[in-house]
Amino acid sequence: MPFYEYACQACGHRLEVMQKMNDAPLGECPACHQPQLRKLISAGSFTSKAASIDNAPACASGGCGASCMTK
Ligand SMILES: [Zn+2]
Repeated sequence: MPFYEYACQACGHRLEVMQKMNDAPLGECPACHQPQLRKLISAGSFTSKAASIDNAPACASGGCGASCMTK
């Protein structure tokens, strides 16, 4: 089940919740009770994208080894 990260536009509170794909998104902030929650990119897919971006500089400089240089 994927995690979703939310950030409150009113108070800046952040939280992660585990939801099914077709669950209704949260709206109310549990910290300030304003209906200002915004869903961020899901933590799981964000992490994997960030990791591949992090690999790019090392790859460009040959830091990831010979297997990369053959591409
Ligand atoms: Zn809030």
